[in-house]
Amino acid sequence: MNQTVENILQKKFITRDEIQFLLSLDKKGSETLFRLAHEVKTARVGRKVYFRGLIEYSNICAKNCLYCGIRMDNSRYQRYTLSDEEVLEAARYACDNNFASIVIQSGEQNSKAFTDTIENLLRKIHLETKGELHVTLSLGEQTEETYKRWHDAGAHRYLLRIEVSNPELYARLHPNDRRHTHKARLEALSLLRKTAYQVGTGVMIGLPFQTISDLAGDLCFFRDFDIDMVGMGPYIEHEDTPLYEFRNLIPSVAERVDLSIKMVAILRIIMPDINIAATTAMQTLDSRGREKAIYAGANVIMPNLTPVKYRDNYLLYENKPNVKDQPDETRKSLEKHIRAAGDEVGYGEWGDSRHFGKRISNNEY
Ligand code: SAM
Ligand code: SF4
Repeated sequence: MNQTVENILQKKFITRDEIQFLLSLDKKGSETLFRLAHEVKTARVGRKVYFRGLIEYSNICAKNCLYCGIRMDNSRYQRYTLSDEEVLEAARYACDNNFASIVIQSGEQNSKAFTDTIENLLRKIHLETKGELHVTLSLGEQTEETYKRWHDAGAHRYLLRIEVSNPELYARLHPNDRRHTHKARLEALSLLRKTAYQVGTGVMIGLPFQTISDLAGDLCFFRDFDIDMVGMGPYIEHEDTPLYEFRNLIPSVAERVDLSIKMVAILRIIMPDINIAATTAMQTLDSRGREKAIYAGANVIMPNLTPVKYRDNYLLYENKPNVKDQPDETRKSLEKHIRAAGDEVGYGEWGDSRHFGKRISNNEY
């Protein structure tokens, strides 16, 4: 391609081929990319990073994604579910420390008992925190009715990663059965959009069999779907999963970090007003990973508020950091990372996706 990074970055619409070119930039080209992404972030969403207190509600999962440490068939972990009181305690901590938002994440469960419990919990959180806390759910694929009930009970945002936007690649990374289809994942995202959530999705970066063209396709997918928020980060191998067998096919740690930061930077440029997370997986592979992501465009971070005694049983991948840190330590350390990137924490602010705000003001619902 007879292009330079500067003239691609000036274009109003960056094509998939051009995105692929940007993902392949060398160190010097990447610096230009990161600098522009940083300017776009500053101009369009400002220099605040919003906390979303992460509550890993349960590691019980009915699915068997080939990459995930808490997949149903992994017998290494003790399965747990937090009590309502444990969730409320974490929610109170978030409120008392001005986080303004929490994320409730879990393995996928679809029983009536589970969906009812979440609905009740949402109402309790709303009462307990006088509606001050915004709640994001990340509880996998559910029916339209369930999504609606949870929304009515007070959930505002929903995160459901597409994982990879290429359907053939998706099929290689999941069991070949009706519980794991790319089509169902896409339909679930459409239902969430229809139910008026702020909709977040994301992908893993550096998976076996994944190409740079696939990653360029992922960024185009976010843009075509007109998504409000994105959480993406490097794939990290876990020895108790079937995908571990292909670990020799994945890019090096440094390459996965580099690709992840480039993905954040390009996304900030092509979707300037969405929320983008600096994910834990980035920090797992590089102690400055989240700082780099914040500089290159990320504006959301998820401090872990799961009671420490459960964390060893929610290991999606190896070497997950800070599993023993109490919430106060995590908060202080993240604050330090955010300041090191020259930003400040948006304490007491919901930090809703501006992109979503625009959709609302255009009377989409
Ligand atoms: N069960 C829900 C779901 O799958 O949407 C939410 C929880 S799931 C643990 C959250 C995310 O963890 C997944 O969307 C996936 O992208 C990520 N994840 C799982 N295994 C991973 C791995 N080995 N490396 C990096 N991310 C991983
Ligand atoms: Fe379950 Fe989510 Fe892990 Fe898949 S990624 S096995 S759905 S927890």
